[in-house]
Amino acid sequence: MKVVIVGGGSSGWMAASILTRLMNQQLDITLVESEQVGTVGVGEATIPPITHFNRVLGISEAEFLKQTQGSIKLGIEFSDWYQPGQSYMHAFGQIGKNMGLAGFHHNWLKAKSEGQGGDFWDYSLNYQAAKANKFTHLNTIPNTQLQGLVQAYHLDAGLYAAYLRQLSEKQGVKRVEGFVESVTLVPETGFIDSLVLQSGQKIQGDLFIDCSGFRGLLIEGALKTGYEDWRHWLPCDRALAIPSEKLDPLPPYTRSIAHNAGWQWQIPLQHRTGNGLVYCSDYLSDEQAQELLLKNLSSDPLAEPKPIRFTTGRRVKQWHKNCVALGLSSGFLEPLESTSLHMVQSGLVRLIKLFPQNGISPVDVEEYNRQSKVEFERIRDFIILHYVLNNRPEAFWQRCRTMPIPDSLAHKIELFREGGKVFREQDELFTEVAWYQVMIGQGLLPQKYHPLADSLTTEQQADLLTGLKTLIDRTVQQLPTHQSFLDKIMA
Ligand SMILES: Cc1cc2nc3c(=O)[nH]c(=O)nc-3n(C[C@H](O)[C@H](O)[C@H](O)COP(=O)(O)OP(=O)(O)OC[C@H]3O[C@@H](n4cnc5c(N)ncnc54)[C@H](O)[C@@H]3O)c2cc1C
Repeated sequence: MKVVIVGGGSSGWMAASILTRLMNQQLDITLVESEQVGTVGVGEATIPPITHFNRVLGISEAEFLKQTQGSIKLGIEFSDWYQPGQSYMHAFGQIGKNMGLAGFHHNWLKAKSEGQGGDFWDYSLNYQAAKANKFTHLNTIPNTQLQGLVQAYHLDAGLYAAYLRQLSEKQGVKRVEGFVESVTLVPETGFIDSLVLQSGQKIQGDLFIDCSGFRGLLIEGALKTGYEDWRHWLPCDRALAIPSEKLDPLPPYTRSIAHNAGWQWQIPLQHRTGNGLVYCSDYLSDEQAQELLLKNLSSDPLAEPKPIRFTTGRRVKQWHKNCVALGLSSGFLEPLESTSLHMVQSGLVRLIKLFPQNGISPVDVEEYNRQSKVEFERIRDFIILHYVLNNRPEAFWQRCRTMPIPDSLAHKIELFREGGKVFREQDELFTEVAWYQVMIGQGLLPQKYHPLADSLTTEQQADLLTGLKTLIDRTVQQLPTHQSFLDKIMA
């Protein structure tokens, strides 16, 4: 089967590298990209499943961190989101201890109702290590069954794509430099027959993967698949991105700082810091946004801010006819929870599981689109959660607080508000612990805790909490710094 990928950004080269790694025998892969167009060039924070992607590609952690000037990410700190002056973290990994059918947070809530328990994140190893700028690999807390550190990475997206290109070309992927000028369809079926480049070259294929970025050259430009606009739930529509000097010490976590009409990201890499502002143009002009971002950088800028415009939402079908859209061409959710590269990865896993044999089967296409829709919608809800539960005074935040939200999210919030319950539905990306952290961090404390928390006496509960906190503090003390972990790896 001849597979043609359009686009050489992160998504194009992620697709090329994994397909060639897993299906090299069956596929003849060509990737077309145009330097004239360029890539979006941002996308520097990831979530833990990226470790699986690299493992499948046979990329060691050391190689990955060297090639991408990457660093470790233990979570995302949200500052000023609930209200100015308040911070919390969506830390990866477990919080506290698995307490069976009721989550650990019920024990913490019970302690809280008795005026004890401290801060929820006192019981998160990832949080404590992140704030102490510490890291090493730790599967479990020494001498216990408790989960150790769970990590993702920060990376230079341009370097990652370049490295994946190298790997893919070595495995036989053909790269064609050229601007796709038109797309020819088969008149009887509406399937894509071929691409015509500016040079006149014609590239034919059986399956086309659209990684052409926001423009969706094939999925929208040629196939007119349609786009579901979600700006009524996620009104930010612009971003400015700018690199600045590297931070010292190097934090092993992403920062997200809320401002009057949007939020700023800070991503620490080994050679520089990635920064940006995501904002809503109804409330902030481009000039105001630039001033706000430059004023709030933690280190000296290394370039001019790069403007990016987007419409939050998703392509109505991610797979249509013989075209699968991945990356920005499949839809866009702002990078608040670093999910875009992950969605490229999960789209590829889905595509490989449903890979066409002897022609494209409508039932496979339907299943691909069903799963993609569910994935997009659940991540969308998680992102809206950060906006809707806020206590900030500005007009933008008041609008977010009072806007109608999807029923699926309203139900989740009510379940938690009433009794501290969250249920992770099948294949949902974010775990219950992720939801607890954002809900609690955004000021939502349940009205009651689960009766199972009463099975511990007050003393037993105090012992549990004090024991866990002591264990975590002691473990963190013994960890090396993030910088020394990286120095060792880079050497
Ligand atoms: C502000 C912002 C911040 C982000 N932060 C994160 C983050 O922290 N974490 C994360 O996971 N993701 C993040 N993302 C998303 C991430 O950047 C993208 O998912 C990722 O870069 C993939 O982009 P892409 O490859 O789909 O598109 P692009 O990078 O836009 O690449 C498009 C490719 O298509 C080619 N092309 C287009 N038209 C033609 C044509 N006519 N002929 C030939 N070639 C063509 C271009 O040459 C280019 O190679 C962020 C996105 C934005 C906008």
